[in-house]
Amino acid sequence: MKPTDVRDPNYFHKVVDCQWACPAHTNVPEYIRLIAQGRYADAYMLNRQSNIFPGILGRTCDRPCEPACRRTRIDEKPVAICRLKRVAADLKGDITDRLPTAGARNGKRVACIGAGPASLAVANDLAPLGYEVVMFEKGPSAGGLMRTNVPVFRLPRSVLDDEIGMILNMGVDIRYNTPVDSLKALLQQTPRFDAVFVGTGAPRGKELDLPGRAEGGDRIHIGIDWLESVAFEHIDKIGERVLIIGVATPRWIAAAPRGAWAASTSRSWRAARGPTSRRRPGSWKTPKKNRSTSWSTTSRRRSSSRAAS
Ligand SMILES: Cc1cc2nc3c(=O)[nH]c(=O)nc-3n(C[C@H](O)[C@H](O)[C@H](O)COP(=O)(O)OP(=O)(O)OC[C@H]3O[C@@H](n4cnc5c(N)ncnc54)[C@H](O)[C@@H]3O)c2cc1C
Ligand code: SF4
Repeated sequence: MKPTDVRDPNYFHKVVDCQWACPAHTNVPEYIRLIAQGRYADAYMLNRQSNIFPGILGRTCDRPCEPACRRTRIDEKPVAICRLKRVAADLKGDITDRLPTAGARNGKRVACIGAGPASLAVANDLAPLGYEVVMFEKGPSAGGLMRTNVPVFRLPRSVLDDEIGMILNMGVDIRYNTPVDSLKALLQQTPRFDAVFVGTGAPRGKELDLPGRAEGGDRIHIGIDWLESVAFEHIDKIGERVLIIGVATPRWIAAAPRGAWAASTSRSWRAARGPTSRRRPGSWKTPKKNRSTSWSTTSRRRSSSRAAS
């Protein structure tokens, strides 16, 4: 048997279950230790090594790390890893002087098509190396699906703007309302681009082609499109009773907006949510004022129920 190689990061990934379960392999134990010591800015910067949006993830991540948390074996519920990430982000203070800055220009130009998380990650990594990054975004703002598909009660615009700003402020030349409709034309631009990154996303929901779909008409919405319409304020209400089909993030993001309530008769919903899913329709209705607070509380309750189920 070979001796353990503790220089190999995979060793730590495998023995620290939450870190291994996190798609970004965030160093969870270390950042929670830092928070416990009140070192929020250090915890934030450590998080930022693995993913560039700790404040956003602290509010929106589906947190696969938490079901893996070993604390569950003792306390029957995991450490609130995701919400602690939010704590570090909210209490970090001014970290401007710790953020990466643009490096001395190396003479190379890179075009990024789209200003979603993928292109922003490219810019975050290339700007400090001296690349000139030009970003073309067809819409009026940066963030991609993070901006157009996550409602503001879940992800305040200020958090989004703050973390996106950390990247764009590294001298990224971003051009809004500039859809790229010809790669040929882009490649022929002068000065020329040395590389083009296509970060246009895959923003299409899946149709459910079942008998009755056509007859349902405008009462049936595809999750991704519906959330985008809410973000752009094309929609501000939905009927009194809503049936949500599917057990993915847009479903539970959509489940508690402004006064709508969600109900699903699907078995998969109940299996996934555990006993709280049998809550009576209407019980998620929140008073008009202070809805986001109510949602946070509900969210915490759900997190525990998931851990327990
Ligand atoms: C409700 C919801 C919740 C989610 N939660 C999470 C989560 O918790 N964790 C997670 O990791 N992922 C999550 N995701 C998935 C995540 O949002 C996507 O994987 C991610 O946004 C993809 O990033 P992207 O940059 O590739 O594309 P997008 O975010 O789709 O961005 C593409 C950008 O390109 C622009 N664009 C498109 N075509 C052109 C063109 N021709 N010219 C110029 N610009 C163009 C668009 O306007 C857009 O701004 C979630 C998705 C949804 C819908
Ligand atoms: S909350 Fe999300 S990003 Fe953070 S450690 Fe867990 S899985 Fe990783």
